[in-house]
Amino acid sequence: MTEAMAATARWQSCAIVEIATRTPAIKSVFLRLSETFDYTAGQHVDVRLIAPNGYTAMRSYSIASDPSDSKVIELAIERLVDGEVSPFFHDVAQVGDTIELRGPLGGHFLWPGASNRPVLLIGAGSGVVPLMAMIRYRKASAEPVPVALLLSSRTWREVPFRNELLEFERSLPDFALALALTREPATHRTDFSRRIDARMVAEVAARLPESPGCAFVCGSNAFVDIAADAALALGLEAGAIKTERYGA
Ligand SMILES: Cc1cc2nc3c(=O)[nH]c(=O)nc-3n(C[C@H](O)[C@H](O)[C@H](O)COP(=O)(O)OP(=O)(O)OC[C@H]3O[C@@H](n4cnc5c(N)ncnc54)[C@H](O)[C@@H]3O)c2cc1C
Repeated sequence: MTEAMAATARWQSCAIVEIATRTPAIKSVFLRLSETFDYTAGQHVDVRLIAPNGYTAMRSYSIASDPSDSKVIELAIERLVDGEVSPFFHDVAQVGDTIELRGPLGGHFLWPGASNRPVLLIGAGSGVVPLMAMIRYRKASAEPVPVALLLSSRTWREVPFRNELLEFERSLPDFALALALTREPATHRTDFSRRIDARMVAEVAARLPESPGCAFVCGSNAFVDIAADAALALGLEAGAIKTERYGA
């Protein structure tokens, strides 16, 4: 095992330094790493909770923060009503608590780097988290890669990172944002009022200066199937469509 692999497999204690409400169901938890690591936008960490009786629960969470600043990482966690781990971060965790974490993990859902071909990002709900790390990284590194983000959310107030994304849309060259609201009419000129479908994905891809070189799709299983098929219909090769599935 190389040193880097051993470090990735090692659990470390991290202090929660801030908790921020992103939407009614999503909170960002900012963690100070005791052992810093380099990561690529798109990667995730494993989080482990251990009860006093030794019962352990482990879940994966994508890193939302820009890798250029990696002492504190941001996880954005959606509360699942009948969930085991996600409600802990909403109802129990406090600033100053420590939790166990290991990473960075994941070797396929990775920002492509210095390629100049446009990148199409498609996410639903908390599936925007690794895409957010990519957009933030692209902004911080000033890489001239055109990016379009198509983000599905039930309502306007449930759009994660909404204000930051709207600011990026105003200020970043070659960044296109399209929201697909499934439970209320869209008010923003470039948005849609329906679930994501192949026609919508084609319309958003056409807002890029040239056809995308790759696509990243993240969300629930059902969402990823539909969005990845739509990306395939654009003419992208299957290997150029990277998917991350969060569960049911
Ligand atoms: C690589 C990776 C990265 C991830 N990144 C994030 C992230 O950035 N933010 C985030 O909020 N989650 C993320 N997840 C999902 C996360 O790991 C947990 O599955 C999620 O928080 C639910 O855990 P829980 O213990 O609360 O619910 P559980 O007790 O595990 O599940 C409760 C119920 O909800 C169902 N369920 C599980 N996951 C989902 C889901 N995503 N949507 C709907 N129903 C579900 C289960 O089938 C079960 O019925 C990621 C998953 C993976 C594999």
